[in-house]
Amino acid sequence: MDQKKTKRRENKINGGKVVTSPFDLIWRLTLIIFLAELSIMIVLNAVPPVPQFTWPIFDAVLLIFLVFPWLYFLIFRPLTKEIAERKRAEKKLFESKVKVEAVFQGSGVGIRSIDSEFRIIEQNKEMDLLCNIERNEAIGRKCYELFGDSRCGTDECTLRQILSGKKQVDAEMERFTKNGKTVSVSLIATPLVNEKGDITGIIESFHNITKRKKIEKEKEALTKKLKHQAQTDGLTEAFNRQHLDSELKIEIQRAKRYKRPLSLIMLDIDHFKEVNDRCGHQAGDQVLKMITKSMKDIVRTSDFVGRYGGEEFLVVCTETAMDEALNLAKRMKKGIKGVHVLDKEGSLLKVTASFGVAQYSELEDFDKLIMKVDSALYKAKDEGRNTICCAED
Ligand code: GH3
Ligand code: MG
Ligand code: MG
Repeated sequence: MDQKKTKRRENKINGGKVVTSPFDLIWRLTLIIFLAELSIMIVLNAVPPVPQFTWPIFDAVLLIFLVFPWLYFLIFRPLTKEIAERKRAEKKLFESKVKVEAVFQGSGVGIRSIDSEFRIIEQNKEMDLLCNIERNEAIGRKCYELFGDSRCGTDECTLRQILSGKKQVDAEMERFTKNGKTVSVSLIATPLVNEKGDITGIIESFHNITKRKKIEKEKEALTKKLKHQAQTDGLTEAFNRQHLDSELKIEIQRAKRYKRPLSLIMLDIDHFKEVNDRCGHQAGDQVLKMITKSMKDIVRTSDFVGRYGGEEFLVVCTETAMDEALNLAKRMKKGIKGVHVLDKEGSLLKVTASFGVAQYSELEDFDKLIMKVDSALYKAKDEGRNTICCAED
């Protein structure tokens, strides 16, 4: 109904002179001949009687004079107008096709269209490069065979999503090319519709983001490395003092707010100077590493082990009361018992450490807690070393 209306409106605009179909042409021709013949008959009846043999001459002459103008106005003129109009439209269509093709082929984005049966209908040059396959070879092949990803065959499949009513699919993913390589792409897919508005497939646009992803990964790795370096001690790989202090401050806040237990274990290697003197500095370094490892093997993942000074270590034991921390210190002491080095003469030198243990109590701040555990450690040293002392509140 609407189409008829627009056609009528178009005809009005063109002065009702557009020939639209063969039927249109036939009725115009019939009308012209009918009107012409009618006019001739009227004329022949009106004029004084003439010899009958002259009738065909009259008829032919009048027919020519009457039919020609009608033929011109009702058929030839509209037809030539229409032909010119069509030629102009065809030219415009051709020009816009050329433009669209230039944009399609010259685009830096890989574009392909796929029908509802997963078959590739068309793809541009950038797409050839992306999926490493020429257009002629790609057309007609299944999309998942040529440039698929891990979502192919699942409900996450782009085509399935669009066919089930989604207006647009945006995603970032890794796609597999023909030669087994992977390419990181960002994808935008939209429906492909026919003249009736039915979805017949999809148009996919791929932007190659492999370089960007690589830079992002490198940046991420570098940030991780820098963070690690900023938090750890280069020799032992235990946390450094700065990080331990900041973690301890956080844990004190948490213990205060939620009224949770928190304890510290501070240990200092006994007579470490002697280890260096008798076994050399490098052997001393090895001892520091071995002691760190033995502590890390014992503590829980929620605890923080750090090197607090030269041969001094601090363990922040979260969610831990004094009894538990004392047990942990005992196990560490036992673990360190296994650490030994050979001196320059080849004699075995056993390494021991002294321990201070303290539990956080509500009225304390960071400095007081550190002082408390430090005092306990000094007490252990005073008591003859290789021992554990607990701080009293
Ligand atoms: P105490 O039982 O009283 O703790 O005696 P100590 O010898 O362990 O203590 P002191 O403070 O006298 O000596 C600490 C030694 O630790 C001196 C220093 O050279 C050594 N030291 C500190 N940092 C390192 C390090 O990174 N590597 C090595 N090999 N030695 C270190
Ligand atoms: Mg020492
Ligand atoms: Mg010391």
